[in-house]
Amino acid sequence: MNYYSLNKISPTVSFEEATIKGQAPDKGLYFPSEIPKLNKSFVTNIKSYSKQQIGFEVMKPFVGESIPGDVLQNIINETINFDFPLVKVHEGVYALELFHGPTLAFKDVGARFMSRCLSYFNRNKNKHTTVLVATSGDTGGAVANGFLGVDGIDVIILYPSKKVSTVQELQLTTLGKNISAIEINGSFDDCQRIVKEAFADNDLNKRFTLTSANSINVARWLPQQLYYFYAYQQWQYNEPPVISVPSGNFGNICAGILAHVSGLPVKHFIAACNANDVVPQFLQSGNYQPKKTIATISNAMDVGNPSNFVRVLELFDQQINDLKNILSSYSVSDAATKATVNEVFNQYNYTLDPHGAVGYYALIDYLGDNVKNSSGGGIFLETAHPVKFPETVEAATNTQIEIPERIKHLFNQKKQGIQMNALFDDFKEWMMNK
Ligand SMILES: *Cc1c(COP(=O)(O)O)cnc(C)c1O
Repeated sequence: MNYYSLNKISPTVSFEEATIKGQAPDKGLYFPSEIPKLNKSFVTNIKSYSKQQIGFEVMKPFVGESIPGDVLQNIINETINFDFPLVKVHEGVYALELFHGPTLAFKDVGARFMSRCLSYFNRNKNKHTTVLVATSGDTGGAVANGFLGVDGIDVIILYPSKKVSTVQELQLTTLGKNISAIEINGSFDDCQRIVKEAFADNDLNKRFTLTSANSINVARWLPQQLYYFYAYQQWQYNEPPVISVPSGNFGNICAGILAHVSGLPVKHFIAACNANDVVPQFLQSGNYQPKKTIATISNAMDVGNPSNFVRVLELFDQQINDLKNILSSYSVSDAATKATVNEVFNQYNYTLDPHGAVGYYALIDYLGDNVKNSSGGGIFLETAHPVKFPETVEAATNTQIEIPERIKHLFNQKKQGIQMNALFDDFKEWMMNK
């Protein structure tokens, strides 16, 4: 399998090169040169496959010759070592819980897969690779955890001081080993600016092999397809499900649509957005108008210009009407999100996180009366555990969220952050003295 740049200038590359580069030299996103067609018997008999077998079957064509089969199977076994349960919330509505990984967010799968691919590609090099990431909260934890203890790779994460939740900060700052967390006295935008300057800096590039681990990397994007296979594997009805995906940068939903185009039965997709409504507006007007990011309570989806949407369009040859046949999109306000967390807790005793609540709300809106029709119904992706957003969830449910066993240890550990002003020169000096 080769990958071409969506800007169509840079040459096509292998999976290995696309993973190492992240973005094409012409600044385009990499896209697979063909969409594999799933074997019909695989889809029909999906219930008889293990999660790890599904992972191998789906990822093999995308990885191609870059990784030998036995190594790929190992990478998948290590990546997929937790569950993705489909939980009934009420008649016709199911949550696919993607928060059972080590950092309680769905980004764990992509981060774990990518880190192991990079480590394999690095196997014969004696030079360390340094992964640089700016995070507003969720990405950093997943990347840090995914790369923890991986040979040949150092990770440096920049996060904005006092703007991430307690659990998120502990996840970033207590790992140690090959992970350094830098607490920037500034905003997420400052962190991103410093990272961008670092990638462009000659001295740093001479001294380090720098890579980014953001969501446009094919090795983070493509394994997200697996969620949709796991959803389908647990689906009990003959009619395929409608699937609602809380969306920000549109990587997750784009992976789902890719799985569908290659043959996975899905009735309809819903891109559930918060106040950042570029895509809902586009599907209505045909006009793609990036906007300044609006801060919301579902902050992992605060994206004003979703990077992966060009990939969604590419899947449909830029034909917006074909896209509209399979995709609808909703914008959900913070007020509606809070009311949904409250209502679903009171009526069904299910605790949503703010992102899942946006997905639930959009699904209910789309299904309308069909929600009561037991032959169908739908699934929303629950992308994070509610404990990561305690202020919103506890206020909306009037109860304290219980801390899951697997993160309790965090609270006994010492934060090992490095504090820094939001100045590139300070960051560079620190790097050069490492
Ligand atoms: C990253 C994230 C999203 C958005 O996913 P995209 O792939 O960027 O659309 C949704 N929910 C949570 C909890 C996230 O961390």
